[in-house]
Amino acid sequence: MKLASIKKHFIQLELSEEEEKIFLLIADCADELKVKAFLVGGYIRDQLLRRSSKDIDVAVVGSGINLAEIVAEKIHPQPAVAIYKNFGTALLKHKDFEIEFVGTRKESYQKDSRHPIIEDGTLVDDLMRRDFTINALAISLNEEDGGALYDLFGGMEDIKKKIIRTPRDPDITFSDDPLRMMRAIRFASQLNFRIDIETFKSIAKNKERIGIISQERISEELNKILLSEKPSIGFDLLFKCGLLQIIFPELQRLYGVEQVDGKGHKDNFYHTLQVVDNIAERSDDLWLRWAALLHDIAKPDTKRFEKGHGWTFHGHEAVGARKAETIFRKFRLPLNEKMKFVCKMVLLHLRPISLSKEEVTDSAMRRLLFDAGDDLDALLKLCESDITSKNEHKVKHYLRNFELVREKLMEVEEKDKIRHWQPPITGDMIIKIFNRPPGKEIGIIKDAVREAILDGKISNSFEEAYNFMLERAKEMGWVPVIEK
Ligand code: ATP
Ligand code: MG
Repeated sequence: MKLASIKKHFIQLELSEEEEKIFLLIADCADELKVKAFLVGGYIRDQLLRRSSKDIDVAVVGSGINLAEIVAEKIHPQPAVAIYKNFGTALLKHKDFEIEFVGTRKESYQKDSRHPIIEDGTLVDDLMRRDFTINALAISLNEEDGGALYDLFGGMEDIKKKIIRTPRDPDITFSDDPLRMMRAIRFASQLNFRIDIETFKSIAKNKERIGIISQERISEELNKILLSEKPSIGFDLLFKCGLLQIIFPELQRLYGVEQVDGKGHKDNFYHTLQVVDNIAERSDDLWLRWAALLHDIAKPDTKRFEKGHGWTFHGHEAVGARKAETIFRKFRLPLNEKMKFVCKMVLLHLRPISLSKEEVTDSAMRRLLFDAGDDLDALLKLCESDITSKNEHKVKHYLRNFELVREKLMEVEEKDKIRHWQPPITGDMIIKIFNRPPGKEIGIIKDAVREAILDGKISNSFEEAYNFMLERAKEMGWVPVIEK
């Protein structure tokens, strides 16, 4: 393969020196092995869209594993090749690239499984089995037609027009592998593309088929939607095609406005989507984005109409925090500190806003600083994002007010260093001083001391904390066995 011919045809791809080198090497090896090899799929799409991509797929009419091994032998130092015999694929890691070699194949599906019967196939067979036209482009790496673009289904045109469309009858594409419905919506959200109308109708028609897809795969797509620049695109599409009701009824329940005595509340579904878009402008953190998605999740459960007052959602933050945990379990998301973080954000999401309303005491500030701890910045971002209104002036006004809350919090933190603060009296000390076993009562005394300091009733000194502890314990009839 001559560099000149590749360069000429790769004119639309902006290849780095590394990419150019590795493609030339693959091309040489393919010719040596006398097999046809093609760049395929997402890598070409992302190149054309100028999105950086380190995952490269190479389709080989023949053995992908053989080609990968020969390529690896010619790289110094020789990279490891992971071979997946069952799938007939090989993964070569080189610099920050992950190059997957796979034999071109033909797939046929049965009704109740998303695992197809797989046979060797031609390049055309291989492109036919792909989900969307934009993912079904191939570029030859062989000498004879090096660089030629194979575009059997109008993928180039769809990239230009920003359209997601299936290469074949969408009913077949989606029924074969219903995960593709989620992928369509995820790509629309990630790339800011439209879904072709026939393709979209077919999703609505085949939505129930999502039931054969594992929760993990669905959640992976939800995460990718959440990580896109404007996640509302994806969630709105999920809602409109009816998939949301099946995979995420808790979120769907936020939709709609109820009226009593001519008074309505805001549509919590679209409010939530706005909050998620707002947070996406402020943070790339997946878990903070999950917190935004779930912050009002318990509003339908706590909704009341109070005569003379209007709609209330008392306690939705606490109920919501518990519900967030249930949703994490259902979606098989990590049940570790990430989940705890999300629950904590949901629980605390009203607190900073409440500080902007009244004449706020330092102790209310200290309490929030203590409760939020290291997650204060994240919480403030969530609260700012929660300020939504059709009236832009209102939003600006509230954001300015909120900026004052942020400043005051920083002042109090600067003065009292409360975020990483631990009360001077620990549970262990109380156990020793009163010679009592660990248990609920120890916790009661410990918390009372902490609260008294946060409330400003006593100062943050060992002396005052110790005396306060003695008094509190006395009320329970406890006497110290150790003198100070
Ligand atoms: P991303 O890497 O962002 O998930 P991608 O399009 O590269 O997007 P991969 O899962 O890496 O997706 O798959 C690579 C290619 O394999 C795709 O571009 C597509 O051609 C094909 N493909 C992946 N999953 C499916 C599927 N479920 N049905 C049909 N083709 C698929
Ligand atoms: Mg990929």
